[in-house]
Formats: sequence, structure tokens, C-alpha cells
Amino acid sequence: MGELLRSGKILLLSHCLLNANSKIKGAALHGPVLKPVVRHILQQETGIMQLPCPEHSFAGGARWGQSKDQYDNPFYRRHCSIILGPVIDQLMDYHQQGYKLIGVLGIKGSPSCGIHYTYRAKWGGEIIPHSGDNCLPSGSLVKEPGVFLEIFQEKLAEAGLKIPFFEVAEDDLEGTLKSLKEFMSRFA
Ligand code: SF4
Repeated sequence: MGELLRSGKILLLSHCLLNANSKIKGAALHGPVLKPVVRHILQQETGIMQLPCPEHSFAGGARWGQSKDQYDNPFYRRHCSIILGPVIDQLMDYHQQGYKLIGVLGIKGSPSCGIHYTYRAKWGGEIIPHSGDNCLPSGSLVKEPGVFLEIFQEKLAEAGLKIPFFEVAEDDLEGTLKSLKEFMSRFA
């Protein structure tokens, strides 16, 4: 029996879009799968590749919520670089075989997987007080990518691969879906 037709298109998703169990505790606000986004993708003729979760594979499921200021260090950058190696190899092979790499979906505000926005905060090294006057100052969203996708962009450029990036805003699912439909329509 012949194979079913494949579309030849591949979309890369940040890990937690398909498995929010990788997030820090309390941050999975939309259930284990981001259904509105994933449902739309499933309706498209595209394969899906799930990127590794760099924070979970670095610090485990009991990690603290941290900012880019903390993750932006040589140890974490090296970890990101190592786990991206096999991903880049797969993408180079798909590219050589003529497949279309149509996009990478990141997560707005993530210190690792943000694309346009990441979270920065001047913390580090404290024993974290829980409340009261000694609370740590809150951080803010800044216009730059998170560590993991920043390194991914560098590695893609080194490999000569051009893939558009799209940022999922979990606090604006309606806006995200509208923009995602436009983004995906370019590859229909
Ligand atoms: S590091 Fe990336 S994949 Fe992992 S939970 Fe955070 S945003 Fe999701």
C-alpha cells in the first residue's frame, strides 16, 4: 500500500504548547495543551516538531520561576546549545530533502522561549522572601528574545536556514489566533 500524501511542511512548536507540564508550577493557565492554537495547527496540512523544553531539562520540574537575567549565563547557554544540536541536524536534513520549514512558535515573555518579548528582573542569589516589605522587586517585559530562542536563531543563521518566528501570547489568545491564521495562510 502506498503512503498517504505528506505535505512536506514542518512547523516547530515550543515544548509547552503541547505539554504545559513542563512549565513552572502555577503557570499552566490553559490546561496541558494550548488547545485553541494547537487545534488550528492540526487543521493545517503541516507536520509538527516539538522543541525540547530547555528549562525543564536544565533545572527540572521543581525549578523556581526565573528571569532572563538569571538564565543568561554560560552554563544555561551551553545547555541550550547542546540540546539544540540534534534539532539543527534534523532541520538541515529536512531542508536538504526539500521540506519546507514554515515557522517556529515561541512564547511571549518567556525568559527562554520569548521571541519579541522576554522577562527581565534584577534578582539573583537571594533566599527568596515570600511577602512583606522584603519582597523582590518585580521585573518587566523587555523587547528581546529569550535565551533559548536567541541561541536557536544564531544556530539557524550559522546553518544557513531561514525560518520565520511567531510569538504566542498566552494572555491574548484571541489576538494570537488571528495573527496565527494570517501567519499560516502564507504557507497554505
Ligand atoms: S522554557 Fe520554553 S518550552 Fe519550557 S516551559 Fe518555558 S516557554 Fe515553555
